[in-house]
Amino acid sequence: MREKCGVVAAAAKADVSPYIYFSLNALQHRGQEAAGISVYDDEEEKIKCYKGLGLVNEAFREIDMNSIKGRRGIGHTYYSVKISSPYNAQPTLVHTSAGDIALAHNGIITNSGELKERLMKEGHNFSMGSEEESMAFLLSDYLKTKSFEKAVKSLMKDIEGSYALTIMFNNRVFGLRDPFGIKPLCMGKMDGGYVIASETVALDVLGAELVRDVRPGELVELTEDGYTSYQLVEEKNKAHCFFEYIYFARADSVIDGKDVYMTRKKIGEQLAVEHPADADMVVPVPDSGRAHAYGYSNRSGIPIAEGLMKNRYIGRTFIMPTQDLRQKYILLKTNPIRSIVRGKKIVLVDDSIVRGTTMRQMVDLLRSRGAKEVHVRIGSPPIVAPCYFGIDMTTREQLIAYGRDVEEIRKKIHADSLGYISIEGMVKSIGIDRNDLCLGCVTGEYPIKVRGEKQRFQEKLEKWE
Ligand code: SF4
Repeated sequence: MREKCGVVAAAAKADVSPYIYFSLNALQHRGQEAAGISVYDDEEEKIKCYKGLGLVNEAFREIDMNSIKGRRGIGHTYYSVKISSPYNAQPTLVHTSAGDIALAHNGIITNSGELKERLMKEGHNFSMGSEEESMAFLLSDYLKTKSFEKAVKSLMKDIEGSYALTIMFNNRVFGLRDPFGIKPLCMGKMDGGYVIASETVALDVLGAELVRDVRPGELVELTEDGYTSYQLVEEKNKAHCFFEYIYFARADSVIDGKDVYMTRKKIGEQLAVEHPADADMVVPVPDSGRAHAYGYSNRSGIPIAEGLMKNRYIGRTFIMPTQDLRQKYILLKTNPIRSIVRGKKIVLVDDSIVRGTTMRQMVDLLRSRGAKEVHVRIGSPPIVAPCYFGIDMTTREQLIAYGRDVEEIRKKIHADSLGYISIEGMVKSIGIDRNDLCLGCVTGEYPIKVRGEKQRFQEKLEKWE
C-alpha cells in the first residue's frame, strides 16, 4: 500500500526553493517516484517549474537550489505506477489567459473522467490529460469572471473526491483541503514566512511552528507576513483517512491534533486488551509495526525485542519476474535475528495486512529461524474494500480479508493465532468521532459517492450556493 503524494507551499522574504526542497525530503515517505518545485520568478514575472524522477535528492541532483529564484512556491513528491517521464510529475503548470496556474495535488478526483470529457467539448486541449490539468482549466474558466476564492469555490462544486492541494496563481500561493478533510494539510510559521504541508514533519524540518491544520473546506492564502483564510464550504461531518494514523503518516507527525506515534502506541495497547497472547517476546515488523508493538508490549507486559532487521539501503528495485525471486526479496528487505527468535513464542505486530503475501513470508521466515510459535497482531481492522481516494490499494479480490473470516486468514498466513483490532477499539484509540473518519476500506461504506459502492449517512450542511 502506498500513499499517492505529499504537497508543500511556501511564501517567504527569502527564496523558497531550499525550504521546499527540505520539506519535500521530510515528506519522502508519501511518494518516491518523482518530485517537483514551482516558483514565481519575480524578474521574469512567470511561474517556473523544475521536476525530476526518483527520490527528492535524485530528482534535483542536477539543479542547484540556490539558483532557483522566487519567494513564493509549491512542491510535490509523487507516487504513481504510471509515471515514465518528469513531464508527468507535479506540480502541473498551465499557462492560461487568466494567468499561470500551478497545482500540486494529494488525492484522487473521482469524477475526473466526466470533467475531462466536458472540458474537451468546451474546447480545452489537454497535453497531459491529468486530473490536475482539468482542475487548472476549470479554475482558469472561472477566473475570467470571478475572484480567486470564488473561482475555487466553483471548482469545488465541480470536483468530487479527495484533495489536499497547494496552488499558485501567478505570484499568489494557496493551500486547499477538500470539504471532508480526507487528506491531511497543515500550516506553519517559520522565520520570515509561512508554509503549508501535508504533514507537520515538513514544518519541523524548517524549524517552523505549527499554526494549525488547514480546515476541511478551507482555502488559505500565504504571504511572507501571514495568511488569509476563506472557509468556502462546510460539511456536517468530516472523513479523515484513519490510515494516516495507522500507517501513511510519519510517526513523528501530528495530524488534526493527534500525535501519530502516541495514537499507534494506544492502538497497540488496545490490541493487547482485545487479543492477548501467551508469548515470550513482542517483535515489531520494522518500521510499520514498531509503535503498535511498543504499545502491545507496554500493556501486556511481554518484553519487546527487535527480532527483525530491516535493510534500509535497498532503494527501488526491479520487478521480480519469478516466484522464487519474489520470495528472496523478503530476505533482502528483512532478516530475523536468530538469537532473539530461536525457541521463542513470538507476537509479531504490524499495522495492516493487504494481500497477506508478505505477512505469510514473514511468519515462515521467523519459523525457519527457530521461532516456536508466531502470533500475529494487526493494528487495523481487516481491509475488505478498496480505497478510491488516493491510496494505491488493490481490488477486492486481491485483499486477503475480502470474503474470509479471521480463522481462514490465519491459516493462509501460517500463523498460530491472529488478532485484528476492532473498528471500535481503533476509533477509540485515534480519539476522533467515528462519524468524522473515513473507514471506507474496512466497512465498504464511503464518505463520498462512488459508483457501485455504498455511501455512508453524509448530508451536506451547506448547499454550496
Ligand atoms: S478508504 Fe481507507 S485508505 Fe482510503 S481514504 Fe478511506 S480510510 Fe483512507
